[in-house]
Amino acid sequence: MSRLRALALLPLLWLAACASTAPAPRDTSPSADTAAPAHASAASLLLVSLDGVNPAFVSEDDTPNLHRLMREGVHAEWMRPSYPTLTFPNHYTLVTGLRPDRHGIVHNAMTDATLGDFRLSDRDAVGNGDWWNDGEPIWVTAENAGLRTATLAWPGSEAPVRGVRPTHWFPFDASRSLASRVDTVLGWLSEPDATRPRLATLYFEQPDAAGHDFGPHSPELRQAMRDVDAALGRLLDGLDARGLADRIDIVVVSDHGMAEVAADRVMTVEEMVSMAEARIVSAGQVVGVAPNPGFEAVVEARLLGGHDRYTCWRRDAIPERLHYGRHPRVPPIVCQMREGWDAIPAEYLARRPVRTRGSHGYDPDLPSMRAIFIARGPSFRRGVTLPGFDNVDVYPLLARLLGVPAADNDGDPATLLPALRGDAAR
Ligand code: AMP
Ligand code: ZN
Ligand code: ZN
Repeated sequence: MSRLRALALLPLLWLAACASTAPAPRDTSPSADTAAPAHASAASLLLVSLDGVNPAFVSEDDTPNLHRLMREGVHAEWMRPSYPTLTFPNHYTLVTGLRPDRHGIVHNAMTDATLGDFRLSDRDAVGNGDWWNDGEPIWVTAENAGLRTATLAWPGSEAPVRGVRPTHWFPFDASRSLASRVDTVLGWLSEPDATRPRLATLYFEQPDAAGHDFGPHSPELRQAMRDVDAALGRLLDGLDARGLADRIDIVVVSDHGMAEVAADRVMTVEEMVSMAEARIVSAGQVVGVAPNPGFEAVVEARLLGGHDRYTCWRRDAIPERLHYGRHPRVPPIVCQMREGWDAIPAEYLARRPVRTRGSHGYDPDLPSMRAIFIARGPSFRRGVTLPGFDNVDVYPLLARLLGVPAADNDGDPATLLPALRGDAAR
C-alpha cells in the first residue's frame, strides 16, 4: 500500500476505533437499553439537588429540561422523604442512606448535650464534623475508595466527616448565581480522566425559598422552577457541547415538597406550652420541646396526644413508620403540625408578613411532601417510570454507580435496579 493510500485510510480507521466506544443507539425498545453503557469505566456521577421540588412542579412547559431528562432517562412517580421533611435531615439521608434518627441530623435546628446548638446560619456548627460523623456521606465512601469528589454545596460537605473532605468543596453561598455554579461543575466534569472527579454534587436553594415566601401554587414558585430549569438547560447544553453527555450519569433529586400555608394558619409556640415550663428546641412544623426540670409531668399532660392543629408524642412513642426517636438529639417531646399549619415563636410572628405562604416539615406520607427523582446517563435505562420509593434507597444506588462498597445504610439496594441498564445493574 502506498504511503499516500495509508494516510487516506487513517480517518476511516479512526472512525472504526471510535465506533467501539460510541454511545449505544438511542432506541427506547426494551431490548436496546440492556446494551453495555458507553465509557462505563470512566463515567462520572453528578448528583443535583433542587430544594423543595414536588413532582407536581415539573411540567413540559415550565421545566423542559427536567422533562428532557425524564424522557431520556428514568424518573420515579415520587420519592418519599424521611422524617422530619426538612432540608438538612433529608439531604444527609440522600447521601448516607440513613434515616435522620441514625445519621444524627435530626432537624435543621437541634441541640446536642456536648456540642450545644445547631443552626443552618451557624457556620461553625455546619462545618463541624462532630455533628455529621454518625453518617458516612457518599463523597467520603468514594474518597476512601480512592475516587476524587467535588461538592458545590451539599449539607454536610463543608465539614470534614470522619476526617475526610471532598477533593474540591465550596461553602454554601446563596448569592452565587446558578449559572456560575453550573459552570464550575462543567469545568470539573471536563477535566481529563486523571483529575476529573468521579462524583460531583450541585445544590440549588430554589424553588424552596420562593415556595416558602409565596406558596406552592404561586407565580413566584413557577418562575423559580423556570430559573432552576434554565440552569439545568445550561448544564445539559454544556455537556452536549463538550461531548460529555454519554459519560456523565446525572441524578436529580429534591429533599421534600411544599404545602400551602394560608395566611391565618399560623400559631405561636407559646400557645402550645409556657416558656416557664419548657424550652423550644425547634419550631415550625416539627416542634421539639424539652420540659424544664420538674415540669416534665405538667408539660406532658398539656401536650401529649392529638390536638386540632398538631399531635405530640414522647420521643419513645413516635409512630414506627416515621423511624424517629432513638437518636439522643431528638428532644423529649416532638409535636407534629398538621399539614398547612406553622407554629413559630411570638417574636417571629410579629415580623412575618401576613399572606399565603408555603412550608414543609409535614408528614412524609402526604403527597405535598413528596420529592422528585430523575436520572439520565450511560448507566440508566431510557424512558422508564419507577413507582414511588423511599429516599434512603438513593445512597446504595450512588455507591453502585461509583463501583464502591456502600457503608451500612437503611436503604434497599434492589429498589433502583430496574432503573439501570443491564451492565450497570449487575
Ligand atoms: P429549610 O427550608 O429551612 O428546610 O432550609 C432551606 C434553606 O437551607 C435554603 O433556603 C438555604 O438557604 C439553606 N441552606 C442550604 N444549604 C445550606 C448550607 N450548606 N448552609 C447553610 N444554609 C443552607
Ligand atoms: Zn429543603
Ligand atoms: Zn424549605
